[in-house]
Amino acid sequence: MICIFCEIAARERAARIVYEDDRVVAFHDVNPQAPVHILIIPRDHISGPLDVDVANEGIIGHLVAVAARIARQEGIADNGYRLVLNQGRDGGQSVFHTHLHLLAGRRMTWPPG
Ligand code: 5GP
Ligand code: ZN
Repeated sequence: MICIFCEIAARERAARIVYEDDRVVAFHDVNPQAPVHILIIPRDHISGPLDVDVANEGIIGHLVAVAARIARQEGIADNGYRLVLNQGRDGGQSVFHTHLHLLAGRRMTWPPG
């Protein structure tokens, strides 16, 4: 398997997993950009947000719902958090398996870099 996030989902590559179910896996980012930085991925390989369509759009809602669950679990729900989906070069995407970033534990800036 050449997709590193497919490997993490299959537990063929180590990751600090915080949540998983039949559709998604969530784990700590290896290079955190905030005190809490968790990635939530679909088990199915979807290259990026550009590949979301009517056939698979339900998974995106589930990623957001799981983020809320993890936020409560991690104690960051009250202070808030940021969810990020990067697409392609200008979006800053470096791993081409869709992932929702859950960032928290510090005040985020706007506009984003
Ligand atoms: P992107 O830039 O594509 O939106 O985000 C990819 C994220 O995946 C980056 O924040 C990067 O630190 C993280 N990442 C890349 N490789 C690995 C890995 O092998 N394990 C974990 N846990 N995170 C990774
Ligand atoms: Zn993949």
